Amino acid sequence: MQAFTYTRAKSVDHAIETSAHASTAQQGAEIRFVAGGTTLIDLMKLDVEKPMQVIDINRLPLANIERDGDGGFRVGALVRNADLANHAQIRQAYPVLSQALLAGASGQLRNMATTSGNLLQRTRCVYFRDINSACNKRSPGSGCAAMDGYHRNLAILGVSEHCIASNPSDMNVALMALDATVSIRGPKGQRDVAVADFFVLPGDAPQRETVMEPGELITHVRIPPAKAGAKSLYLKLRDRASYEFALASVAIVMGLEGGRIRDVAIAMGGVGTRPWRSAAAEQALRGNAPGQAVFENAAKAFLADARPHPGNQFKLELARRCLIKAMSDLSASA
Ligand code: SF4
Repeated sequence: MQAFTYTRAKSVDHAIETSAHASTAQQGAEIRFVAGGTTLIDLMKLDVEKPMQVIDINRLPLANIERDGDGGFRVGALVRNADLANHAQIRQAYPVLSQALLAGASGQLRNMATTSGNLLQRTRCVYFRDINSACNKRSPGSGCAAMDGYHRNLAILGVSEHCIASNPSDMNVALMALDATVSIRGPKGQRDVAVADFFVLPGDAPQRETVMEPGELITHVRIPPAKAGAKSLYLKLRDRASYEFALASVAIVMGLEGGRIRDVAIAMGGVGTRPWRSAAAEQALRGNAPGQAVFENAAKAFLADARPHPGNQFKLELARRCLIKAMSDLSASA
């Protein structure tokens, strides 16, 4: 691990000022905020992340879950995944979020991992974590060893010729289906970004994964109020029953009226370079009575732009079945 300077932030402003000061003094050196450390510390040990300055934000007052003015919830950046998953009102209002969080990692990791860290979770592509491999995301311009290598767990949606890494988070998929917003503070002030706009496609610059700018800090995630009568569900398919990343997962929120689908939001994990939501699939569902033919159409629309590679071709069928199973199970309980 490369030596680094450690600072414990006393306030949000102190964290941002320290980051800005270090960036100026050290001429664009890598600076990282650390919270639970469940991704960052691993990557530092592997020399994938080599920050010159680490700013510890664990003592900032950002660990509360509060009612928001609009009746939704405001979740602090430092709320631990276990606390968010088990919060009584979150479980009641947003089962999909609680289920997604509990499907992720292990109990020990959920006790440490934070809401903001989960949003910024890095890919599990094996070449990204191996500094001896070509990887455009870790070392821009070096190539992509996954294209002709091991890519069974990587993406089929949103891929580019430079990177096919999948976003590994479960929580992010649920937040996408819930229309959540990320509150960010930085040297230029405060801004709110919809989760749908927070993640960027790899394109020809896969090293950039989100719209976060240097020195910016996530302070909260805001979740709008649950729609009256809507139900939700998270379904995750993986190689083993726990402590494993998704090969395909679905977060779905659905409300029925008069036997027809009134509102629906559907997102997938494990298959996209970012958490993937499909307006076309939602359009294929809205206004129709739930049923196998409607679900088949929606799944087809969802996966229409999929571009699998030989080693993850199976994900097309797996994702189709995952979508149909989630839609069927949720509509049967609605
Ligand atoms: Fe790197 Fe992306 Fe290629 Fe994996 S898929 S080796 S993360 S560029």
